[in-house]
Amino acid sequence: GFAPPPPSTGLGPSPYPPPAGAPRPPPMPGPPLPGQSLAGPSASQPNHVSSPPPPSPMAGPHPGPPMGGLHGPPPPTHPPQPGYQIQQNGSFEQVRGPQPNYPGAYPGAPNYGSQPGAPPPPKRLDPDSIPSPIQVIEDDRNNRGSEPFVTGVRGQVPPLVTTNFLVKDQGNASPRYIRCTSYNIPCTSDMAKQSQVPLAAVIKPLATLPPEENLPYLVDHGESGPVRCNRCKAYMCPFMQFIEGGRRFQCCFCSCVTEVPPQYFQHLDHTGKRVDFYDRPELSLGSYEFLATVDYCKNNKFPSPPAFIFMIDVSYNAVKSGLVRLICEELKSLLDYLPREGNMEESAIRVGFVTYNKVLHFYNVKSSLAQPQMMVVSDVADMFVPLLDGFLVNVNESRTVITSLLDQIPEMFADTRETETVFAPVIQAGLEALKVTECAGKLFIFHTSLPIAEAPGKLKNRDDKKLINTDKEKTLFQPQTSFYNNLAKDCVAQGCCVDLFLFPNQYLDVATLGVVPYQTGGSIYKYAYFQLETDQDRFLNDLRRDVQKEVGFDAVMRVRTSTGIRATDFFGAFYMSNTTDVEMAGLDCDKTITVEFKHDDKLSEDSGALLQCALLYTSCAGQRRLRIHNLSLNCCTQLADLYRNCETDTLINYLAKYAYRGVLSSPVKAVRDALISQCAQILACYRKNCASPSSAGQLILPECMKLLPVYLNCVLKSDVLQPGPEVTTDDRAYIRQLVTSMDVAETNVFFYPRLLPLTKADVDSDSLPAAIRNSEERLCKGDIYLLENGLNIFVWVGVNVQQGLLQNLFGVSSFNQISNALNALPVLENPFSRKVRSIVDMLQVQRSRYMKLIIVKQEDKLEMLFKHFLVEDKSLNGGASYVDFLCHMHKEIRQLLS
Ligand SMILES: [Zn+2]
Repeated sequence: GFAPPPPSTGLGPSPYPPPAGAPRPPPMPGPPLPGQSLAGPSASQPNHVSSPPPPSPMAGPHPGPPMGGLHGPPPPTHPPQPGYQIQQNGSFEQVRGPQPNYPGAYPGAPNYGSQPGAPPPPKRLDPDSIPSPIQVIEDDRNNRGSEPFVTGVRGQVPPLVTTNFLVKDQGNASPRYIRCTSYNIPCTSDMAKQSQVPLAAVIKPLATLPPEENLPYLVDHGESGPVRCNRCKAYMCPFMQFIEGGRRFQCCFCSCVTEVPPQYFQHLDHTGKRVDFYDRPELSLGSYEFLATVDYCKNNKFPSPPAFIFMIDVSYNAVKSGLVRLICEELKSLLDYLPREGNMEESAIRVGFVTYNKVLHFYNVKSSLAQPQMMVVSDVADMFVPLLDGFLVNVNESRTVITSLLDQIPEMFADTRETETVFAPVIQAGLEALKVTECAGKLFIFHTSLPIAEAPGKLKNRDDKKLINTDKEKTLFQPQTSFYNNLAKDCVAQGCCVDLFLFPNQYLDVATLGVVPYQTGGSIYKYAYFQLETDQDRFLNDLRRDVQKEVGFDAVMRVRTSTGIRATDFFGAFYMSNTTDVEMAGLDCDKTITVEFKHDDKLSEDSGALLQCALLYTSCAGQRRLRIHNLSLNCCTQLADLYRNCETDTLINYLAKYAYRGVLSSPVKAVRDALISQCAQILACYRKNCASPSSAGQLILPECMKLLPVYLNCVLKSDVLQPGPEVTTDDRAYIRQLVTSMDVAETNVFFYPRLLPLTKADVDSDSLPAAIRNSEERLCKGDIYLLENGLNIFVWVGVNVQQGLLQNLFGVSSFNQISNALNALPVLENPFSRKVRSIVDMLQVQRSRYMKLIIVKQEDKLEMLFKHFLVEDKSLNGGASYVDFLCHMHKEIRQLLS
């Protein structure tokens, strides 16, 4: 077995130097905080409802023990859990009548359960009586937002992603790096299958931390490199057990015993712990880095610093829209903000420039030149780089030549009539340039149209909305040629990551163009019908963030697990050439990889289960490093412990990714049905094995999963799984790929947007107004609301809003004068305007992409678009309301139980 590391004894500053990178504060983890137990792991930890929820009129009478039974350690006998019960008039059979004008998602749903021939009059199930996301989020904030989350104890469920909290690493990775669907996993495969709860971890290896938290320490073991288990190659971590006076250690993953290398030897204290325990991050912390030796480098050679290559479409549309000029202007200043390592004065990243339409133009920007030189490659069938010296340069050395080039490009192509573009040769050119320079890097490609020009990877327009809801719908998500898959493989081998900025005026086949960005760990940004006036802020903010953000190059991630479970499936933007190594040409701070685990043996409650995620990557200065994250989980023999320690937000993140991959191979309806069926089984298993006995008419949900139905419904009616007529094929392909790399916070707000009543905001405080539920009936005609989902911000204005408020926010005297064309709020000097703009700014900073701001006037035609995001309501394209879906789930569960 193993014990979590005890708290630091408060030694002085640690003896190991902070790594290159942002300055890292010296203190090691402090003593436990009040209320934070560091006792050994117990079979079951209290779940994240750490205090009894406030008495609520929503829940019916509780036949079981009071809700307070969840407070503190559960009694050992595993009594039935109270769960979350919904009951109205003794049953759940009286449901809300159908909303007029909308097709019912589930035919017959409103009357299900009624006696044949004698349907009860449709009564409305009070939406206030069903679990509210807002309430759950608020409760968690109130209960868990004030104290740091200390990671010393095995199997603790962290606060929700919507709660602001600090993390203290005391031996397990922060939830900012790893979140799990459950922190207490069944001991046997049979139990796991019975529950149908997927066991998955959402891992964000390079996550950005708030300034108050320590970056992982960099450990340098010199030429000998990190200490590893002889058999499974796991890296030294807090759970390794030192034996024989410290001469050997037993691996916590595979039990193999390994000699401690002489230079790493240290004596043990009377408790069997190494006396240098607190001085070594790899013995006492959940997350840390090792400096990699040359053995961890390609061709046994330390890498060169990476390169950035900017590749600009200069066809007619790109030039005419002003895009080319905008990009060139921006790059002049943005090049000063390339990622730098630590205290380095300048970035080590070299840059290069290419423009293209049907042919490619390379630029020599060598510092000794008076003017840049252009070299044209018109034979795109066999791409090569026409110049070696002077293509990739240091920004400061070549600044004059680069500035001159960026000034000239818009002029050179100002009169172009060329409308056709190539695409694959552009990537090939970037790849070749990195190959000959023997470095990794990133291509920033700015592209406008379907590449129909004669060239490798040429595409045809194959968009066909008639395929929706047919067995062929999956082809819309698949690339139209395997050419790009092969290209992606070559890119990954070289460490060539592709970030793609798209500016389409029509279909350009995101499903195919996205293959290389997606499989190289890159990003796709899409600005449909790009217009300079309305879209430049969003594009420039995205570009600035994308160029500046932390990224690891030429990365390989491996997840090791203790005996009994094994990583079996992976979701995200990466390439895999075998079943264990996740390869990414680039991995940035926003990308997550979701890993699913399956049993291959029995687990034990005593030893629990361990994960170790090791990411090998090249830093922006060319340093080869290993970042290690460790997480210990509890194991249970009682299903109740599983259900008490689940995290629904992470479960939804996994389920969405699973479903979004499913549409590549199965009809969308089959994917939706499978999702519903799996969740019904999860909830039915709880009801059967863990809940208190009660009448069959009652729906009982696990406390931790009471939002599963509402969130699941949001996934089911998302654009990928149930598109409305206004959603394009490219939108769906784009969203599908985007969601696949999202972290839990991003999927949470993407599927259940945040809706804030702006008119309730306190202009004198920094706080946000309390969010409300996403339903039209919660909106008042006299108020103004903000809705955000990570991609868009809507500002909805009711028809009866007071004139004074309109004046303050929009500078107009009446509702009719508010312009739909606004893409930003006017800057007006009054408290309400300042408050609303500060809220918008705050939300923009929180998200990894700059959100598009859209003003929606009530009863205006844009309101249809807005209503699509009121996810508790029935949607126009047939998506069920929350109430109807809950009824449907209840029916499914009852069928499983009968
Ligand atoms: Zn091992």
